[in-house]
Amino acid sequence: MTKFARAVPVLMYHHISTSPGMITVSPEHFAAQMAYLAGAGYTTIGSAQLSAYLAGEPLPKKAVVLTFDDGYLDNWVHAHPVLQAHGLTALCFLVTSWIGEGPVRAHARSGGALPALLNHRDGEVAIENGEADHAILRWSEIDAMREAGTFEFHSHTHSHVRWDRVSANAEQKCAGLTRDLASARATLQQKLGAVSDHLCWPQGYHDEDYRRIAAEAGFRHFYTCETGSNYSGRDDGAARSITRLEVRDRPASWLASRLWVHTRPAISRAYLRIKR
Ligand SMILES: [Zn+2]
Repeated sequence: MTKFARAVPVLMYHHISTSPGMITVSPEHFAAQMAYLAGAGYTTIGSAQLSAYLAGEPLPKKAVVLTFDDGYLDNWVHAHPVLQAHGLTALCFLVTSWIGEGPVRAHARSGGALPALLNHRDGEVAIENGEADHAILRWSEIDAMREAGTFEFHSHTHSHVRWDRVSANAEQKCAGLTRDLASARATLQQKLGAVSDHLCWPQGYHDEDYRRIAAEAGFRHFYTCETGSNYSGRDDGAARSITRLEVRDRPASWLASRLWVHTRPAISRAYLRIKR
């Protein structure tokens, strides 16, 4: 057996919350999953290491990437303190127009009354009604997570709009996405002082126009909702499409078995073939 990683699973989370709902993992299951990763010798790697790995550089075995989509408030309340306790790191994909200002709210290990957490559906309604602050991170919380080293932050567009659905024609779609990505980059540059070339597609949607426009905007790494592991030296042309594994609200043993499969290329591919 090689001592280098042969496949790197990228795990996809959304909510870590006491309010059950779609795409939500309970804080208990999340804490157990993270304790398993730390105890079993997994290393969480960041975007730069993933990029280097995809370009062909070796990574130690048991490397994994944690990703969180949409930038929910519950990531601060329930994910950040657990990651910090274990020295684990994650990537978070922000929808920049949703993020608010204001002081840092309490998290699960900070003491103080925790903010109310909306379930996924109620959060969507809050965002539609211009009350995203009830569901989404604030810039102050993002700063605190960056300072603690638990999360790095990347783009999930400015609006999360599916331009393919709201546009009358391809020209409108392309113009919408172009503006959206420009606003996202400008906001991240202004608020964080940097913007990376890692982009997560809203609802996993991408087409040829999307890929071309995002590449022109400066993005090189594209996080999809397509299921699979990631392999060194895999060539997708100039751009890299990253497949992920959606983490369910299940005990650590469930995650352990998924990681066992998806760190082994032949087994991972066979497993996905059977599932399809
Ligand atoms: Zn999203």
